[in-house]
Amino acid sequence: MSTIKGTIKTDVANIFPIIKKFLYSDHEIFLRELVANATDATQKLKTYASKGESIGQSDDFRIEIKLDEAAKTLTVSDKGIGMTKDEVEKYINQIAFSSAQEFLDKYQDDNAIIGHFGLGFYSAFMVADKVEIHTKSYKEGEAVRWSCDGDPEYTMSVGDKADRGTDIILHINEESEEFLKEARVQELLTKYCKFLPVEIKFGEKELREKGEDDIETIEHVDNIINNPSPAWTKKPSELSDDDYKAFYRELYPNTYEDPLFWIHLNVDFPFNLTGILFFPKLKSNFEIRKNKIGLYCNQVFVTDNVENIVPEFLTLLQGVIDSPDIPLNVSRSYLQSDPNVKRISEHITKKVAQKLAQLFKKDRENFESKWGDIGVFIKYGMLTDEKFADKAKGFSLVEDVDGKFFTMEEYTESIKETQTDKSEKTIVLYSSNLQAQDAYLSAIKDKGYSVLKMDHEIDTHFVGWLEQNTEGVQFKRVDADVADKLIDTDSDLESVLSEDQQTKLKTLFTEELTGSTAMVELKALSPESAPVQITKNEIMRRYQEMSAYNGMDMGGFPQSYNLVVNSNHPIMEKILKKQIENRKKMVNQLHDLALLQQNMLSGANLTDFIKRSMDLL
Ligand code: ADP
Repeated sequence: MSTIKGTIKTDVANIFPIIKKFLYSDHEIFLRELVANATDATQKLKTYASKGESIGQSDDFRIEIKLDEAAKTLTVSDKGIGMTKDEVEKYINQIAFSSAQEFLDKYQDDNAIIGHFGLGFYSAFMVADKVEIHTKSYKEGEAVRWSCDGDPEYTMSVGDKADRGTDIILHINEESEEFLKEARVQELLTKYCKFLPVEIKFGEKELREKGEDDIETIEHVDNIINNPSPAWTKKPSELSDDDYKAFYRELYPNTYEDPLFWIHLNVDFPFNLTGILFFPKLKSNFEIRKNKIGLYCNQVFVTDNVENIVPEFLTLLQGVIDSPDIPLNVSRSYLQSDPNVKRISEHITKKVAQKLAQLFKKDRENFESKWGDIGVFIKYGMLTDEKFADKAKGFSLVEDVDGKFFTMEEYTESIKETQTDKSEKTIVLYSSNLQAQDAYLSAIKDKGYSVLKMDHEIDTHFVGWLEQNTEGVQFKRVDADVADKLIDTDSDLESVLSEDQQTKLKTLFTEELTGSTAMVELKALSPESAPVQITKNEIMRRYQEMSAYNGMDMGGFPQSYNLVVNSNHPIMEKILKKQIENRKKMVNQLHDLALLQQNMLSGANLTDFIKRSMDLL
């Protein structure tokens, strides 16, 4: 073969400037594309060999990445199938080029292509002025040397490569010199190639070892980037708990906590999907996670932005999903409507629900002990995914203030007898803050009622969800009413005050409290109950919380509350007997005490209260 000069056929006058302009920050993917090609070529060779084809020397299949900073080259070498002259002509000059062009055409008007997969060989021109291919096929024939310096013109001639395989040599351009730096290349190889199925060597590393005589020896060993058979490619039956934990650490070397548990995904019909999802130990609230789920395609890292592929609530998990069936050459918005992706996402949800149900059934005690970590995540899933909610009802738990766990069904059953009101509703009492609501809690405890702990941010929403999705229950926060009235049975007490006295008392409080947001309510409670108490209407309060959550300005609406005056408390009769000045003082003192108990007294009101208390003393 004499040297052939050709022009890569293209509609666009010159595609290379476009390739070079390709989203700047993503230039780095060239390395993934080239190493993935080298891996493919090697895997193909292994397949041919296993079918009995003769492939020549066959004990070393390692891919190697080499840097030459002086010559400004980066080389990717493989010992795969290589290419004949005709194959270079076909796969590089024609097919590869047209697929690169197709990719770029698509990319032009859509910036969100998943992982920018598929640009392939020509992505080398994003970072190189000139690219050479030295290749020799495993079949009979001469080696080929191909070279192209960024114009659509290339040269092809007989090469001098002696062994089977392919070297791709990139003459790195001036703007891309970062890719001549060892640390940068190491970082990229670790990011994209850490689990590729063929061993990848990048230079050497030092292995320091202390001998018996305390003398340190330094050994130079090959720096192997990857683990060619990561845990998710194995059968679950081959793996122990320790293997999973070790893999977790391999994925996230800077995390010291063990995962709580994991789910090994393994599907081959109607789509291919493998992977391992870990439930991490969450800190109190949704923390911004940096250990994200990685999406892989045949062990090549694609992206850790799995939005639209994995249901949103599952993005809080960690681990790996590997599927060649997720279309990577499409935009993210397209993914939402892709039936395959939808099925994958539903399948993952189903598996997660199954695993949780199984853990719950197998070892409930253990499940309960992890509820603090996984509860938030399950509640979030139930709020956002109906199908998941359906399955989660069986293992989603509520916790009472004494730390006992129940499913919602168990719980309603257990309180039915004592906490059903006259309208046949079972009243579920809850506290959003045990400390702040202590006064209410102790009053309720005296009545023998049960109270749930609902003190996470997400519970504001979850309470409403539970109420809607549990037949015959109503939720009331412990401060929604006075303890006697939270569960309204017919047993109203008689007031010890006459009608006239009651009117007087109510007027007295109402007049003194004009200007505050309090609504005065007179109630005939037991004499042992507190003389005045603050309550907050459940529906109003929830409405206000939701509005605040949705970012509506509630500045114009200060938190309103009820001031429940216990007409049967002995102090009321005393107040009515006092002189007008002292009456006023006592009313204000009682109101302030109730506010103080709720941490609602501040500023000038607090100063007044202290002054008045001194006077009274
Ligand atoms: P893709 O890999 O998506 O097919 P590329 O543009 O990356 O597209 O490569 C085009 C073709 O060139 C490949 O399909 C393969 O046939 C051939 N090729 C690329 N790199 C190598 C290599 N290292 N060894 C053997 N063949 C290769």
